[in-house]
Amino acid sequence: MKLLTARRLGAIAALLMLGGCAADERSTTMTTNPQWAMENIPLNRNAAQFSNFTDEHLAWADTLLKQTLAVAGPRTIDNTLVSLNEMWMHLDMVASQSELFSQAHPDEAVRGAAEDGSKRVSEFVTALWLNPDLYKAYTDVDLKRADAATKFMVEKAVRDFRREGVDREPAVREKIKQINKDIVDIGLTFKRNIAEDTRFIEVESPSDLAGLPQDYVDARVKASEKNPGGKLRITTDYPDYVPFMKYAHSDPLRKAMAAQFNNRAYPANIEPLKQLIVKREEKAKTLGYQNWADYVTEVNMIESAGNAQAFVDKVQGITRAAADREIAVLLDYKKKTDPGAARIDAWDVSYYMNKAKEDRYQVDTQEVRKYFDFPDVMGGLLSVTGKLFGIEYVQVKGLPLWHEDVTAWDVMKDGKRVGRFYLDLFPRPDKYKHAAQFDYCQGVAGERLPQAVLVCNFPKPDGKPGSALMEHGDVVTFFHEFGHLLHNILAGHQRWVRISGISTEWDFVEAPSQMLEEWAWRYETLSLFARHFETREPISKELVGKMLAARFFGESFHWARQTWLASISLGYYTSNAATLDTTQKMIELTQRYSPVPYMDDTHFQCSFGHLDHYSAVYYTYVWSKGIACDLFSPFEKHGMFDRATAKRYREGILEPGGSRKAAELVRDFLGREYTLEAFERYLKQGV
Ligand SMILES: [Zn+2]
Repeated sequence: MKLLTARRLGAIAALLMLGGCAADERSTTMTTNPQWAMENIPLNRNAAQFSNFTDEHLAWADTLLKQTLAVAGPRTIDNTLVSLNEMWMHLDMVASQSELFSQAHPDEAVRGAAEDGSKRVSEFVTALWLNPDLYKAYTDVDLKRADAATKFMVEKAVRDFRREGVDREPAVREKIKQINKDIVDIGLTFKRNIAEDTRFIEVESPSDLAGLPQDYVDARVKASEKNPGGKLRITTDYPDYVPFMKYAHSDPLRKAMAAQFNNRAYPANIEPLKQLIVKREEKAKTLGYQNWADYVTEVNMIESAGNAQAFVDKVQGITRAAADREIAVLLDYKKKTDPGAARIDAWDVSYYMNKAKEDRYQVDTQEVRKYFDFPDVMGGLLSVTGKLFGIEYVQVKGLPLWHEDVTAWDVMKDGKRVGRFYLDLFPRPDKYKHAAQFDYCQGVAGERLPQAVLVCNFPKPDGKPGSALMEHGDVVTFFHEFGHLLHNILAGHQRWVRISGISTEWDFVEAPSQMLEEWAWRYETLSLFARHFETREPISKELVGKMLAARFFGESFHWARQTWLASISLGYYTSNAATLDTTQKMIELTQRYSPVPYMDDTHFQCSFGHLDHYSAVYYTYVWSKGIACDLFSPFEKHGMFDRATAKRYREGILEPGGSRKAAELVRDFLGREYTLEAFERYLKQGV
């Protein structure tokens, strides 16, 4: 599921170009404006309240904009940047909470109101980036005595104004405004089509579920009583789909399931996807770029689409031969039951990968699950990260949240609250289907604390031990997403909201999250919380050793597959949009980059949500993984809980957020430039 995790850097947040950075816990005079006090920021609203919330914050933002533009005399940090910061804080409220609630609120009317909020805030922000008076206000501010972070923030803003076309003719600006609006509208449709399209297969009897864990079968049998004809239904939601693909013995049923999964949002999203690509190309060309990929990569660490393509090809070169060897091993396993088998297909991979791991490394993944009961994992994640980063979590009960499953937690450092997060972790109808971190509001030093949300789809406990056994892959996902969340909270103490939180370069965003995954893989950490749900025995060193050995089998396949996904994301946004056939292009790139063949009559691109919010830059996962491996190397050397290394990492990589270039942060932490050597060493632990 790693490939489907994401930090939700939605279209709106991308448009706001908000980012994140360093902590100043010593500035304790919180909240000059009482509306930013945590207690005054509502956690649930009905549709009418959500619309009012949007109205109010946009009105405040508008007033602040007008007041700032009306300032007479020389422009200073105090008379210009401070009030503009307040304006961005209002816009962030609407953008972040609209993004979250349009995808995670249980009430359809609220989801609609939140979608409307997304549209309106993005329209407002689009107009800002195209406002020459506002641009002039930023460039006129006297920065002679400003600190480095302030200068960097203004530099970034000025760059972003130019990239939006603020210095173009009025007619061009008008055109860009319309394109931006179209992109947001189409993106919302694209996302909604994915979120609301849950498909399923039906099977006749529990014997069709042979191979699946008994608790899985029991739960589906119980649920089937409500289905028409009492049939057993397996849906495309993760808690159904992922174990099915991994354990179900039946090849035809796995194939049928994969066909459903890879046709979600088809044909509904064919046209919206095409239009997203057309509109983005139009914007890029209007601004003088060759294509959207060039436009979007320009401000990333990688700097150009050409560099991104070269990087994708380089990683394909590093991974492909080993991935093909892994696939050959899977075919050997398939031949044991199907001697005539000639190849491994997409619907075989998870199943035979699991078989091979069990056989070669003697890891029984169903046995492993028994050590990962949700409540144990949850407690473990909190204690491991708390110990690592010197923080504590305190649950806050009795808050009026948007669903009864959601919990709230204060993050404490040195006895002081430094932020809050919410965990919305279990599936429900019409909820976002993947695992992601959402912003609730960005922190600003001295003004308001950062708040963030994890939205995931893990098995839900019913109070009995063993009722929510997690796949170890889910545990890794949990750590991954929590890595984003901590980055957000710890970086959410900058003076300027535009460089606070995760406001770093987009292709650095997945590095802290992927690095934290390592803590879900070591005996040193797992032994602290992974206990057998019946015997309460801690997981043994031997079992973790086997899991770790098995981990690297399939890892080259995984990263080769990631370069395939990256090639689609880049390929779509470097193509001639007018003539692009997304299915045809996907098939071509599958033949070139994917270690397994295209599955006939499927349209995976329709549910590849990243094509909206990541657009051309899916390569980010691979790029960030390379950095994550490099950043992890000092921990490998000095220990998983080495205080000095963890402190250096927290202060040097996480807390600065977007106040400095990511490449500089990485270089300062490592004492040298980032290379792919650690990543290559990592992969060589496989076959
Ligand atoms: Zn992520």
